[in-house]
Amino acid sequence: PKYVYNFTEGNKDLKDLLGGKGANLAEMTNLGLPVPPGFTITTDACRHYLEHGRVPEGLDAQIEEALTALEEAMGKRLGQADDPLLVSVRSGAKFSMPGMMETVLNIGLNDAAVHGLAAQAGEERFAWDSYRRLIQMFGKTVQGIDGELFEDAIDDLKRRKGVTDDLALDAADFASLVEVFKDIVREQTGRDFPADPREQMRLAITAVFDSWNAPRAVLYRRQERIPADLGTAVNVCSMVFGNLGMDSGTGVAFTRDPASGRQGVYGDYLQNAQGEDVVAGIRNTLPLAELERIDPKSYGELLAIMEKLENHYRDLCDIEFTIERGKLWMLQTRVGKRTAAAAFRIADQLVDQGMISLDEAVGRVTGDQLAQLMFPRFDHEAPRHRLGRGMNASPGAAVGKAVFDSYTAIKWSRSGENVILCRRETNPDDLEGMIAAQGILTSRGGKTSHAAVVARGMGKTCVCGAEELDIDTKNRRMTAPGGEVVEEGDVISIDGTSGEVFLGEVPVASSPVVRYFEGEIDPASDEADDLVRAVHRFMQYSDAARRMNVRANADTPEDAARARRMGAQGVGLCRTEHMFLGDRRTLVERLILADTDKEREESLAALLPLQREDFTGIFEAMDGLPVTVRLLDPPLHEFLPDITELSVRVAVAEARGEEHEGDLRLLQAVHRLHEQNPMLGLRGVRLGLVVPGLFTMQVRAIAQAAADRIKAGGRPRPEIMIPLVGTVQELEIIREESLRVLAEVGAEHGVELDFPIGTMIELPRAALTAGQIAENAEFFSFGTNDLTQTVWGFSRDDVEASFFSNYLEKGVFGVSPFESLDVDGVGRLVRLAAQEGRAARPDIKLGVCGEHGGDPASVHFFHEVGLDYVSCSPFRVPVARLEAGRAAA
Ligand code: ADP
Ligand code: MG
Ligand code: MG
Repeated sequence: PKYVYNFTEGNKDLKDLLGGKGANLAEMTNLGLPVPPGFTITTDACRHYLEHGRVPEGLDAQIEEALTALEEAMGKRLGQADDPLLVSVRSGAKFSMPGMMETVLNIGLNDAAVHGLAAQAGEERFAWDSYRRLIQMFGKTVQGIDGELFEDAIDDLKRRKGVTDDLALDAADFASLVEVFKDIVREQTGRDFPADPREQMRLAITAVFDSWNAPRAVLYRRQERIPADLGTAVNVCSMVFGNLGMDSGTGVAFTRDPASGRQGVYGDYLQNAQGEDVVAGIRNTLPLAELERIDPKSYGELLAIMEKLENHYRDLCDIEFTIERGKLWMLQTRVGKRTAAAAFRIADQLVDQGMISLDEAVGRVTGDQLAQLMFPRFDHEAPRHRLGRGMNASPGAAVGKAVFDSYTAIKWSRSGENVILCRRETNPDDLEGMIAAQGILTSRGGKTSHAAVVARGMGKTCVCGAEELDIDTKNRRMTAPGGEVVEEGDVISIDGTSGEVFLGEVPVASSPVVRYFEGEIDPASDEADDLVRAVHRFMQYSDAARRMNVRANADTPEDAARARRMGAQGVGLCRTEHMFLGDRRTLVERLILADTDKEREESLAALLPLQREDFTGIFEAMDGLPVTVRLLDPPLHEFLPDITELSVRVAVAEARGEEHEGDLRLLQAVHRLHEQNPMLGLRGVRLGLVVPGLFTMQVRAIAQAAADRIKAGGRPRPEIMIPLVGTVQELEIIREESLRVLAEVGAEHGVELDFPIGTMIELPRAALTAGQIAENAEFFSFGTNDLTQTVWGFSRDDVEASFFSNYLEKGVFGVSPFESLDVDGVGRLVRLAAQEGRAARPDIKLGVCGEHGGDPASVHFFHEVGLDYVSCSPFRVPVARLEAGRAAA
């Protein structure tokens, strides 16, 4: 098999095989852009290596062949003493994993070749700098030596020379560093740094393969839900040099601002520097626009290339480039990561520019991104104390206690604290701390620094390069220019949209996107900015495209009204349990304790008018739209006092000889109702069957509320939903009682009350016998929370806290099945029940209520199995609308 592709052989669609970097290097090569020649080793070769512990048969020969061809094309050979070819060995997986895997630059140097390089370039300093970089990167990434050893050696040298900047080191300094570095390698590995360039290359290639499984890469993939078995490609690319003097340099550019999405020239440039200096935030970079002054010719060329790339990819591209003595080279491009706001703005702009269709644009924005735009932001009216400002690297409003290392961030966040991770700069080892933190603040590095790129990818608030803040990680404190000192544990607020950093907690306000959904901002008015207009445009498109309706879960008139403003087409789940709490507790207690039918009927009669009022308000708020009311679901003991508290109260009263007859009866009831496993106990329809009159009271309240609304000129559309049905017989009994009550109340009020009666499908048995159940149900609502609990045998209240983090770490699943529907297991039952339900009753309405109704991936699945609607919390309604539209488009 072919394991090696020249850059001239690939193209952008071969990402599976060549990785994103390799595929795009090939694409740029074929577009005629200035890409240093090279070749790509496929992900197949990597997978083979990872599986068998050695490279596949034939790979070495293919590499040798490609290398020889490269040497011929370049007119120099790897290791040639008087004029050496140097190459980089670069990782590059299908999905970009910024800084997660390894790259080694300047391969091909040794004690002889360094002189040849110096002579060819006419630059001693450059050659020795390149050589020490090779040993440093090779030592760190290939030989696993602690990078600090090299950094410390550089710092030592600078201190002895009394300088702070790398630029102040000369050729002799770097030559001396080469010796020190070689000693470090010898001490740490017991071997000499390999002088044979082909050996350097071979070792670097397998190190890149191995880096696929580096712990931080594994963690990143899990976070980003990237499959673990893809492997990485390896790119061998002839070197070009940005460290050849001030007329050279290296940079990163975006065709649009990845933070805001606005058009313009965005990027960072660093003169006389190589490769990762820009990203690592080692020196402070110049804004890309400065390049126009420094090197107008290269700048012009770069802008032309950027335009060409954007037109070609029809999307925002990000770019790595290097200028070697006034000659521009392209080292990488890809369709760039962006913030949620940028995603909406860019897709909208590209439609306006005629580059993509509206359909394609909606495909490029996600419900998760929309959810991010709905997060609150800092209230600009509130008083606040500004400490300083950095770059707005990743938007959002984050408040938390300042911590200065990742370990503390992880530890504190585990104990429930919100933290802001403050670092001079971050590196891949900080990943876990960044995940744990609410936000990230750095004092060095630009919008393309590690912190910025990773935070944007995670949708986490980040302010970077806040130079005016002195972040002192050793002493765990930060000093602001105004003299304020923030110690570890002090609360700060960071605004990733403006780049500002504040002392203390700044209050937050709702986002304009939410105000638009709430109807407070008219998208056609001046108050609406381009982001709101983009959201509006895509929502309209999705609403027109989608087949599924979106309803909300709402238990109060206020929630129902809000959900309706957010675009809900009804209530898919109105829970009645909270209506039994508060002041009504005593009535419920009386019901539970009732010894005689009379007592029970009295307490039900007292509950009835209260329950009726609850429904009237909701039916009014949702007038003309369906409201699915679920009859009481939770176990009764939830309405009784806590067993321990009550026992203590009884014991104390007894000791004091006080009256405690009532409490004693209550305690007996609590004991009687106590269950080992309440989730699987007396709840749902079982309550309706066991507690006489309970469900009929609820149905009567629904019927009376509806009758009242009809008489008031409204159009109530209640749907009565029976929870936790396992067999059709349960449903049949409740259904008959309910029909009787509806008829009774209808006759009393002289109105016709013909409302659908249906059931939740939330037990495996219900799903498996859906055909029978459908005979007695006019609708099904999949209760995917309980269904997930019962299909997996997971007690949701316990497992998420006890061992899910362990499962996620071990990769048992990439995301909790309570968060995103388990399509293979739970989904299979949903599909089966939908099919058999429809077969038995073709006009049956099928919906889903529960967290999954607002989860983007799950929404796509529900669309695919043909459900009529999803129901989710009011705030997720826009997300579900968008995703239902994307699923149908
Ligand atoms: P990453 O995927 O982490 O960005 P890269 O493979 O792109 O890693 O390389 C790291 C840095 O080295 C980048 O800044 C890149 O532009 C630079 N680089 C890689 N190959 C070369 C080369 N052949 N010549 C000059 N610079 C290079
Ligand atoms: Mg790169
Ligand atoms: Mg349930």
